Amino acid sequence: MKLASLKRSWTIGVGLACVGAIAVTAIVFSTQRVMDELLYQDAINDGMAWAQYVVDTTEGLSDVISGKAPASDVEEVLGQFSAVGNIYQFAFFSANGELLFKTGSFHPQNEMGTAAYHAHVHEADAVLGADTQMMSKNAAVNADAGMDMHVVSENGDETSTNLMAHAQHLATLMVGDGVVNPIHYAVVNHPVMKNGILQYTIRLRLDQTERFDLYKSMVSKLSILLATIASLAVGIPALFAWRSRNRAEIANQQVHFLAKHDPLTGLLNRRSFLDQLEHAFATRRGQSDQIGLFIIDLDGFKGINDGFGHDVGDELLRQLADSLKFQGDDFTAIARLGGDEFAAFVTFDSNNIDLHELANYTLSSLTGIYEVNGHDVVSTASIGIALAPSDAETAADLMQKADIALYAVKTNGRNGYALFNSGMEKKIKMRRNLEALLRQARHDKSFELHFQPLFDQETREITAFEALVRMRDEKGAFVPPDIFIPVVEDMGMMEELGEFILQEATKTATHWPDHIGLAVNLSPKQFESGNLVRVIRSALEHSGLNAKRLELEITESLLMNNSERNLRQLTSLKELGVSIAMDDFGTGYSSLGYLWKFPFDKIKIDKSFMGDMEHVDAKATQIVSTIIALGHTLEMCVTAEGVETEAQAKFLNEHKCDQLQGFLLGRPMPSEEIDGFIRKGQLDEAHLKIVS
Ligand code: C2E
Ligand code: CA
Ligand code: CA
Repeated sequence: MKLASLKRSWTIGVGLACVGAIAVTAIVFSTQRVMDELLYQDAINDGMAWAQYVVDTTEGLSDVISGKAPASDVEEVLGQFSAVGNIYQFAFFSANGELLFKTGSFHPQNEMGTAAYHAHVHEADAVLGADTQMMSKNAAVNADAGMDMHVVSENGDETSTNLMAHAQHLATLMVGDGVVNPIHYAVVNHPVMKNGILQYTIRLRLDQTERFDLYKSMVSKLSILLATIASLAVGIPALFAWRSRNRAEIANQQVHFLAKHDPLTGLLNRRSFLDQLEHAFATRRGQSDQIGLFIIDLDGFKGINDGFGHDVGDELLRQLADSLKFQGDDFTAIARLGGDEFAAFVTFDSNNIDLHELANYTLSSLTGIYEVNGHDVVSTASIGIALAPSDAETAADLMQKADIALYAVKTNGRNGYALFNSGMEKKIKMRRNLEALLRQARHDKSFELHFQPLFDQETREITAFEALVRMRDEKGAFVPPDIFIPVVEDMGMMEELGEFILQEATKTATHWPDHIGLAVNLSPKQFESGNLVRVIRSALEHSGLNAKRLELEITESLLMNNSERNLRQLTSLKELGVSIAMDDFGTGYSSLGYLWKFPFDKIKIDKSFMGDMEHVDAKATQIVSTIIALGHTLEMCVTAEGVETEAQAKFLNEHKCDQLQGFLLGRPMPSEEIDGFIRKGQLDEAHLKIVS
């Protein structure tokens, strides 16, 4: 919890405690007052009534008082008063305040005993804070009784009474010692008047201990009830107020957090990351202070989302964010910029940090197989890095430069990192230009197909044409497909373009003689959606081309990823009646391994071997002859592509390479030229070179 909210809770706690203390004090204080009042009323009611009763009902009392009665009568009369109700003593005073008779005395009750009474006294002292026998105080004038309640000095054994006091109706609450007097008792003064003249005064002592206990238990129950009601009345609203305040506080903190953080990963969001980056620029001290900015993008995240679902995608992002959080000490700030893009920056002094090491570490922490919701998900990432002040002077510029470096990694095979350099900007410009061209060509449907012939080495006839896609730039010049096909793949347009090529090529091939086949290149991207078999079947149906005339060229990269799924699709394609060729053979990682995986109809030896065979490396000729022999062993047709020279053609002929393809024999041409080319046929000068 934050300090401010701790302080606030503390203040609320203290406030509640004060309110509680005031309530308890008020209750204790009023308890005491209520007790006094009850005992006082009790003394008045009981005492005065008894006194009057005694006066009214005791025969011969006046004679006893005035001394007219004989001694034997006096004893009898006084004997009647020894114990009446809870009155334990009567004293009679003459009109001038002299003690005439006193009858009765306090006897501690048997069951309690003196010791218990003493204990009781201490308790009473503790409760009432009195260490003398005096405790009563003046009460207000009792209008009904027309008398005052006074504090009377009690000395226990009275022989006379205060002149002022004895002529008045008085009730005084007293605290005794439990031995001579009860612990709680009242002294009640009752003057007896006749024709307005004081005759005598009866002063009686009333044992109020039982009443006191009764009232005490009553009043304390009441007090507890009152205290409970008071604390509920104050406490519950206070508690609600505190809780709603607390909730508001938490909500406020959450809003504050969300304003600055990405809700999915808890990392900083773009806005607050930029704020921190700007702050880092603003607080830089001189050229030696550097800022290294990393922009991180996951590779193929769209595929993960599409393939496994968004839940898996989100969970992967969370796990990767956690990996980044582990590097909290390496970086000044880490953020999720949005989607699958993260960023982090580090501030450092001149050379006290190895950015390459940091980049490698970051990369490895994001790369690997993650277990996400029961799926094994392969994650790799690309990182673009830019440095301030060498690459940029402002935060925005630094972000842009790191973006450019990231783009360079992305277009360079991904799963790596790159530090920004100025050459990258030029490449990016070219790439953006290429993307614009591709979008335009797609919009204008201006992709073209050229066809390059393949010749049978033995019969010297054209066996097929390979369809090769073409796109022109703004000036009408062809952009090499080697350059634009990977960009088409990156842009997610390959499936669409591939379908167009298949439809166009099959349509064109129906105009050729039946014995001439059609070869079409397939990109691995065309296998991703699982629609390929349907697309090819539909192209064959729409064009009417016999499936036997269609040959599909794939590269071994297709079998490196998702090989089971792709192999299944290849098998289905073969079931359509088309043949499958392994293109660019010899350039991949483990070509032989892939040859075993699928019964290819043909292997095409990569054109790079032709150049090497001629100029650079004599070993290339050995490799080519080995591949031809291997293909034949596996009962596959072997084609050599990129045949440019007669020497190459001669060598291939000698080694019984089944088919030849290359500029020497025929360049890729637009479909309009094919008829003429076929007509020239075997008489073609170039073709003759094959056999020479
Ligand atoms: P690829 O499938 O190996 O196609 C053969 C490439 O070799 C073609 O280049 C062709 O013009 C070139 N070539 C043929 N004979 C010779 C020769 O004697 N010397 C030299 N130096 N080159 C020769 P292109 O048309 O530039 O295509 C390059 C690559 O682009 C193709 O290599 C293929 O990977 C890709 N590509 C072209 N068209 C398509 C297509 O329709 N779909 C797909 N997926 N890829 C295509
Ligand atoms: Ca090819
Ligand atoms: Ca090739």
